[in-house]
Amino acid sequence: MSLESLVEQLVRPEIRALSSYHVADASGMIKLDAMENPYVWDESLRKAWLDRLASVDVNRYPDPHAPAVTASLRKLMNVPQDLDILLGNGSDELIQLIIYALAKPGAVVMAPEPTFVMYRMISKFAGVEFAGVPLLSHFGLDMPGLVAEIHKRQPAVLFLAQPNNPTGIKYPADELEILARTMSGLLVIDEAYLPFTDGDALSFAERFDNVVIMRTLSKVGLAGLRLGLLIGRSQWLCEFDKLRLPYNINVLTQVSTVFALEHYEVFAAQAQALREERSRLHASLSAMPEIQVWASEANFLLLKTLSRPAQQVFEAIKAQGVLIKKLDGAHPLLADCLRVTVGTPAENAAFLSALAKALA
Ligand SMILES: *Cc1c(COP(=O)(O)O)cnc(C)c1O
Repeated sequence: MSLESLVEQLVRPEIRALSSYHVADASGMIKLDAMENPYVWDESLRKAWLDRLASVDVNRYPDPHAPAVTASLRKLMNVPQDLDILLGNGSDELIQLIIYALAKPGAVVMAPEPTFVMYRMISKFAGVEFAGVPLLSHFGLDMPGLVAEIHKRQPAVLFLAQPNNPTGIKYPADELEILARTMSGLLVIDEAYLPFTDGDALSFAERFDNVVIMRTLSKVGLAGLRLGLLIGRSQWLCEFDKLRLPYNINVLTQVSTVFALEHYEVFAAQAQALREERSRLHASLSAMPEIQVWASEANFLLLKTLSRPAQQVFEAIKAQGVLIKKLDGAHPLLADCLRVTVGTPAENAAFLSALAKALA
């Protein structure tokens, strides 16, 4: 038997039908495609960090529970004592743990769409049915539609990105409240973009037995460390913890995270600067008649090209050395849409000039 037919015979057909997660090559480009913080650490911070890393013993396994990391996060985020924290190798891993734990035969995972693609992708990996419920055309929640789908499909879990990716829209708190009350399954409120907005949903995890809160350090400036967290009742978290591979948070990440959180004011100031830059970028884009842009509570803006296909504009911007994200084709509501991460003032200026040339 040929190698190809052996693989075909053994690998699950739905896996063979997938293509692996594509990350665009950004070498030499201005990178505004992945919601990264554009600022690098200054010399003194970098030196202090390297000094701290010098004492790490990489011959030893990391502490499987990373208690110093958990304690720093609890303090930073004011997590009350009656809620637990579970760490993941990025929140992507936490999404995986939740879905694997709930993946009974016939279980349904639900999310309003368009949204973060990992909810759908990981459901597929786990062999669980994913039900996407379309957002309204202005990207708000279709509350009657969503409530009806919840009653009909009885999802084991509903993922709600707050603010949402790729729209940047933050849903009203009373809508979250209705969803928490309507769901008999678990409601996961994914606050990946919390550093770029005001207020949070932590109190939902205290008030509702079926709500957990997911966060990450990726978007605030530590994407390379891969650290996400789930905040919620121990009854949920201890079940998800059983599926976690024992040493998921490596020793360099543990030490670096504790160090970075001691200097959190640096990241908080950068997030504030990015919010101001977001307003400026939004104003510039709003002034372009060929562009529709949405208000955003995250570190990116969603835009729609009105005068020519988004694909063409995307390619023209890329040819000028600026990489953004093309969303056209990802969901019917995203036709001719692009997403740009808010960068430094110079990067945003380069993007705006590339966009203006692409539209000329
Ligand atoms: C980027 C993003 C994440 C993934 O974060 P990691 O911690 O880097 O895995 C999770 N949720 C949403 C909505 C995101 O946009």
